[in-house]
Amino acid sequence: MKAVRFDAWKTRPTLVDVERPVPGPGEVLLKVAGSGACHSDVALYAIFEEAIAMPQLRPAYVLGHEVTGWVEEAGPGVVGMERGDAYMVYAARGCGHCSSCSRGEDTLCVNVASMTHLGSGLGLDGGMAEYMTVPVRNLVPLEGADPIAAAPLVDAGLTAYHAVKLALPKLAAGGRTALVIGLGGVGQLAVQLLRQMSAATVLATDLKPEACDLAARRGAVIVDGGEDQAARIRELTGGRGVDAVFDLVGTAETMQLAQAVVAVRGRITVVGLAGGRTDWGFYTTPFEAEIMGTYMGTLEELHELSALYRAGRLEVYVTPCSLDQAMDAYGRLEAGTMLGRAVVVPHPDAAGVAVEGASQAEPATV
Ligand SMILES: [Zn+2]
Ligand SMILES: [Zn+2]
Repeated sequence: MKAVRFDAWKTRPTLVDVERPVPGPGEVLLKVAGSGACHSDVALYAIFEEAIAMPQLRPAYVLGHEVTGWVEEAGPGVVGMERGDAYMVYAARGCGHCSSCSRGEDTLCVNVASMTHLGSGLGLDGGMAEYMTVPVRNLVPLEGADPIAAAPLVDAGLTAYHAVKLALPKLAAGGRTALVIGLGGVGQLAVQLLRQMSAATVLATDLKPEACDLAARRGAVIVDGGEDQAARIRELTGGRGVDAVFDLVGTAETMQLAQAVVAVRGRITVVGLAGGRTDWGFYTTPFEAEIMGTYMGTLEELHELSALYRAGRLEVYVTPCSLDQAMDAYGRLEAGTMLGRAVVVPHPDAAGVAVEGASQAEPATV
């Protein structure tokens, strides 16, 4: 079968022919429906090297950690799986027996130092391929919902869901306000989730007018950039400040904006990976405000997110492309010219989608 394999640090992955995997005990062979091309894949092959990367991410393996698919074959001992049923793949793969893994928090596995991988497509073979094997525990049902648009939910969507869910106590009162800084794919999902899951007023800001328009249509109150932006945001909160800020960018500038607008006892969640730094001190920070990082989400949360998606309560923009066009899609991701999330569809006929050249494809609302 064809697969996009990452073979060495600082080397672009290539489309290669590999053996179709065989499901072991407790595993399922999945026929890949959709596989999202994620920015962190670009970081993996273009930026990381031995000195800075986690050893668990060392190549070689098949990329793809945002995967959905149909059951093709059940391995020994697997019951209750029907051929053709659609599932999301929870990508994180911890030791399976520590206190974190026991709660479905494989992302925070206590034994990560002794593990050889972080997850599928992250040290283990992922789903940028025609088929992949998955432990049955990591499958989250999609039922009749479209598996192609669902692919980005597995990572981008789950990251937004986790950050929003953890911040809900900050928004659990009348007159509360949230702010989303950065309205790319994850930011757009954060706006939708905040509108679905809380009663807070949702403010949002981005440099791109079309991203702001989309968020406005989804119920966000847009705050334009500019010098007095922090003052205008505070004004919109009646002077109280923002109870939950989500920084989807993560530069020093966006973190400082977050600090300038956060309320007493408010929370800043830094989701973006830009690697910015900021000063945090008693005299410059509202009383009892907090700042935290976040990393993907839990298996249980992916079940919750899937339920929201199956109920038709989330809108996801994707650009389908074929497996042959996967490297072209990564190229456009590197160049910043990809519209919406590129989802590689290895079996377009089975998925019932048209995959024109990735470079010509218009973003499809699915
Ligand atoms: Zn990702
Ligand atoms: Zn563990």
